[in-house]
Amino acid sequence: MRNRIYLCLAKMSGNEMKFIQEAFDSNWVAPLGPNVNGFEDDLKSFVNPVDSRDGKEVVALCSGTAAVHLALLSCGVGPGDEVIVQSFTFCASSHPVTYLGATPIFIDSEKDTWNMDPDLLEEAVRDRIGKTGKKPKAIIPVALYGMPYKIDRIMEVADRYGIPVIEDAAEGFGSRYDGRVLGTFGRYGVLSFNGNKMITTSGGGALICPDKASKDKVMWLATQAREAYPYYQHEAIGYNYRLSNVCAGIGRGQMTAIGDHLAHHRHVQGMYEELLADVEGISVHKAPDSRFDSNFWLCVMTIDEGLRIVGQENAYASKVTTAVGGAAGVVHVGGGVHTSCEPNPNVEAMRVFLDAAGIEARPVWKPMHKQPVYKDSPAYVNGVSESLFKVGMCLPAGPLVSDDDVRYIVSKIKEAIAH
Ligand SMILES: *Cc1c(COP(=O)(O)O)cnc(C)c1O
Repeated sequence: MRNRIYLCLAKMSGNEMKFIQEAFDSNWVAPLGPNVNGFEDDLKSFVNPVDSRDGKEVVALCSGTAAVHLALLSCGVGPGDEVIVQSFTFCASSHPVTYLGATPIFIDSEKDTWNMDPDLLEEAVRDRIGKTGKKPKAIIPVALYGMPYKIDRIMEVADRYGIPVIEDAAEGFGSRYDGRVLGTFGRYGVLSFNGNKMITTSGGGALICPDKASKDKVMWLATQAREAYPYYQHEAIGYNYRLSNVCAGIGRGQMTAIGDHLAHHRHVQGMYEELLADVEGISVHKAPDSRFDSNFWLCVMTIDEGLRIVGQENAYASKVTTAVGGAAGVVHVGGGVHTSCEPNPNVEAMRVFLDAAGIEARPVWKPMHKQPVYKDSPAYVNGVSESLFKVGMCLPAGPLVSDDDVRYIVSKIKEAIAH
C-alpha cells in the first residue's frame, strides 16, 4: 500500500541530531544558547545579500504568530489603533492585531498573485484617514502559499503615507521578488518554522528587523522585558517568546538543506503545471512573471464551477468532526454542515475523492473578512479572494512528495472528473 501523501511534511537533513546533541552535551536546554545564536546567524546570512555590510538583523522566536505580535508592538500598535491586513490569509496574520486591542482592516487580493491589492490598499488608507482622522499603524501583506506580493507597489503606497510594512513571509521563506528575499523589503519580516512550513524547528518563527537597535528591542520584549537590576524589575510588559535552544538545533540542521527544499517545491510546481496543463476545468496558480520567484510552499489549483466531480451531489452531506490542519488539538464540533461562504460542492467532492485515495488536499484559506470572528472589522473588497476561496484547492508539495506521488495525484484528479 502507498503511504498517505500529506501537503507538506517536514524532512530532516540528517544534521539536526548533531546540533541537538550539542545542546544536551553542553547543558544548553533553555530558551537561549549556542544553537539560537547559530540559527540566527544562518538566517541572517540567508536573508541578506552576500555583499551587504549593514544588513537586516534576525531574532529567533517560538512561533511566527509571536513574530507578528512583536512586530506590531514595535510599530507602536495599541488599543484603538487600526492595522491594515491582507484578508486572504491564515488567521495568524490578523489575530495578534486583536491581541493588542487594535482593529484589523482587511484588504482583498488582486488576481495575479492572489495577494494584497495595492489599489485597494491605497483606497483604504485614504478612507481610514478620512473616517478616523488617524493613519493605520501598519500594513501587513502576506505571501500566500509562498507567492510574492506586489511589494514595489505596496511600498510605494506605504512610503507615501509613512506607514510601516510588516511582511508576513511565514509561508514565503526563500521566495524572492526581483531577486531579493521576502521579509527584507518592509520594516519587519515574519518567518515561521512550524512543522508544515518550508523548514521546521517543530514550532518556531523569527522576526527580520531593520537594525541592531530594533533587534535588541524585540529580544527584550521576547524575554519578559527585564530591567538591569540585581533583582527582577519590570517597567514594561514583556512576553516569553524566545526560541528553545533544542528547537534552534533543528533549525540549524534544516538550514543545511534549505536549498534542496526550495528546489524540490519548485520542481513539484513545475510537474503540476505540466501534467495539469491540458485538463479542462482545472488551472494551476502560477507566478505572473519571472520577478515573482515563489518558493511554492504549497501548490494550488482552481476547479471551474461547471466541472462535474464524482460524488458532488453528496458534498457536504455529512458533518466533519475534525478541523483542517493536523496541528489542532481540540476543535469545536457541533456547528452546522454549511456556512454562508464555503468552497463549491465540486471542490469539496474533489477533497473527499483525493482523501479516499490517500491524498491530503484542502481548500485555500477562507478570507478573514468572511470569518464570523471578524464580522465587525472594516473590509475593502473586490470579490477576488471570496471567489478564489470557492474554487481553490491546495495540493501536496512538501519535501517527501516524490515525482511518482505527483503523477499519482494528477491521475486521481483526472479520475475524479465525472465523464
Ligand atoms: C503559519 C503562518 C503564520 C504563523 O506561524 P506559526 O509559526 O504557526 O505561529 C503566520 N502567517 C501565515 C500566513 C502563516 O501561514
